[in-house]
Order: sequence, then C-alpha cells, then structure tokens
Amino acid sequence: MDEIKSELQALNIGEVKPNEPLARHTTIKIGGPADLFIEPSSIENLQKVMMVIQKHRLKWRSIGRGSNLLVSDKGIEGAVIKLGRGMDHLKIDETEITVGGGHSLVSLSTLISRKGLSGLEFASGIPGSVGGAVYMNAGAHGSDISKVLTKAHILFNDGSMEWLTNEEMEFSYRTSILQKKRPGIVVEAVFQLTAGDRAEIVALMQKNKEYRKVTQPWNFPCAGSIFRNPLPNYAGKLIEEAGLKGYKIGGAEISQMHGNFIVNDGNATASDVLALIQHVKYTIFKLYQIKMETEVEIIGR
Ligand SMILES: Cc1cc2nc3c(=O)[nH]c(=O)nc-3n(C[C@H](O)[C@H](O)[C@H](O)COP(=O)(O)OP(=O)(O)OC[C@H]3O[C@@H](n4cnc5c(N)ncnc54)[C@H](O)[C@@H]3O)c2cc1C
Repeated sequence: MDEIKSELQALNIGEVKPNEPLARHTTIKIGGPADLFIEPSSIENLQKVMMVIQKHRLKWRSIGRGSNLLVSDKGIEGAVIKLGRGMDHLKIDETEITVGGGHSLVSLSTLISRKGLSGLEFASGIPGSVGGAVYMNAGAHGSDISKVLTKAHILFNDGSMEWLTNEEMEFSYRTSILQKKRPGIVVEAVFQLTAGDRAEIVALMQKNKEYRKVTQPWNFPCAGSIFRNPLPNYAGKLIEEAGLKGYKIGGAEISQMHGNFIVNDGNATASDVLALIQHVKYTIFKLYQIKMETEVEIIGR
C-alpha cells in the first residue's frame, strides 16, 4: 500500500491518506479505516487515480458525502475514492446546469433556487453529493433525480469515460444502472431545469425543510432511511406499528421521531446498527410476513 500511496502522491492528484477512519466521512459517524483514502482534485486526477488502481489491481469504491452508508467497524479493504473538493464545479447556462459529482446536493438546490430555477426543490434536505444522488436516483416529495437529469458523465473501471443519457441510466425507485449492471463513478451531471418564480421556489424549499425538521431526527448522526419502502407499505409506518420506535441496541436507537431512521447516540458501532437492522427485519417478518430490504448500503470488511 505504501508503494501505491507514494505513486499517487508523486502524481499530485489531491489528498491521499492511509488508514483514514470512515467515521469522519459518514453522516452516521460510524466506520473503520479505509486502507487508502483518496480525494482527487479534478476529473483528470481522478482518471490518473483509476489508472494507478488498475495497474496495482487494487479493490476500490467511490463515496460522496457518506449519507447512505453503513461502514463496517473493521473498515474497507483497498481504496476509497471520495468525490468532494475539486470535483464540485458548476456551470449554469440559462436553464441547463452542469455540475461536478462531488457538489453537495443541498447547497446546489439552494443556489439554484435563488436564481429562480425550478426542478431541484425536492433535494433541499437530501445531504448527499450530486454523484451519490445520481447513483441512488435520490428523491423526495414526489420527485427524484430522474425527473431532471439529461445526462451523466461516467468514469468506468477501465478508465474510459462516457456520457449516459437519462434513458441509458435506467433509473427506477432509488436505483440506476450504476448499482449493478455498469459500476462507474459519476463525475458530472447535466440537469435541465425550468425558469420559475424565485419567491415560490424558495418558499416551497422552506416548506420541505420545515416538514423534515418535524418528522426526521435531522440533528442526530444518522444515515437517512434504513429500509426501502416495501410498497404499497411504508417502512417507517410498519416499524412504528410494530412498537419498535425507541428500541435500542448498544448506542444505536430506532428514532423516536421516525421509525425508518436509526440514530447514533455518539457511541454506536456498525455492529450495533446491524443487530438493530436484523431485529427489525425479524420482527416485521414475524408480524406481517413482509421482507424488509435495506436502502442504506452496508459496506466494508
Ligand atoms: C438525514 C438524511 C435524510 C435523507 N433523506 C433522503 C431523501 O429524502 N431521499 C433520498 O433519496 N435519500 C435521502 N437520504 C439518503 C442519502 O442522502 C442519499 O441516498 C444520497 O443520494 C447519497 O449520496 P452520498 O453522496 O452521501 O452517497 P454515499 O452515501 O457516499 O454513497 C452511497 C452510494 O453512492 C455511491 N456513490 C457516491 N458517490 C458516487 C459517485 N460520484 N458516482 C457513483 N457512485 C457514487 C457510493 O459508492 C455508494 O454506493 C437521506 C440521508 C440522511 C442522512
């Protein structure tokens, strides 16, 4: 690993840190170290990183703002590539925007709304990156990424880059083609927005934010919705009806505010959260014969 680290540092591609704790890079503030943590400072540097990784046949995965991740206490083998600073460019061309995969979705939607552009109001409370949101087809309030994305610029495993159209992204409920069929890194996305009334857009975003404040534990470390909704049922409602709100294992607790959120009291480990997830799955199946699937991604050793 030392050799790869030195090679990357010599290329001056951005941040390179061995044994970086991922608890520092996840919103639930849990996760052991990544063997090698890399934060490339540009698309060109990300491509260089990928070439070094391929040369050494190193395992890798990309992360954004870590808001949909549960990372093992034992950490992650290989390289973790974080898209953040340096990968957060933004170009506004009337109603079309081109934005880096490392841009924060919350700050993007705020910025755009102030310019009177409509289409990303739903994203004002989703604490992920643009790349993570495209990968997940993140959504809320009846909309999602697939409704506004024109195309996404993807870096694939072999170092090649390609623009995929909205159709080629094969979006559906919280999924895209990147999740299984064609793994790759979203380096940029193009969104088509519409010109709207600035005051109306800002007011709608404010309303969405207020709604979250009273329904979600926004001020506790968490990873958003833990389970996908087993439609037509809602995960949070089932968990609440099963009497599981407030149920706690170690430092992990099912939020008193929202059944589909697990909060970290400051001392939770990934093992605590996993045990709680298993308990919910078992209880819901026993009571309703419904198999719960996680929305949060569980990764690492
Ligand atoms: C309080 C709270 C509220 C939330 N509310 C919502 C909500 O309303 N709706 C919703 O959909 N989600 C919600 N989420 C979940 C989360 O914010 C989204 O899933 C978000 O899209 C994840 O983005 P991220 O950058 O944090 O990705 P990460 O958590 O870092 O990664 C998640 C997955 O995306 C992949 N990924 C990350 N960046 C890239 C990239 N550039 N290219 C390719 N793949 C990438 C990772 O490899 C990983 O597989 C919430 C989370 C929290 C903590």
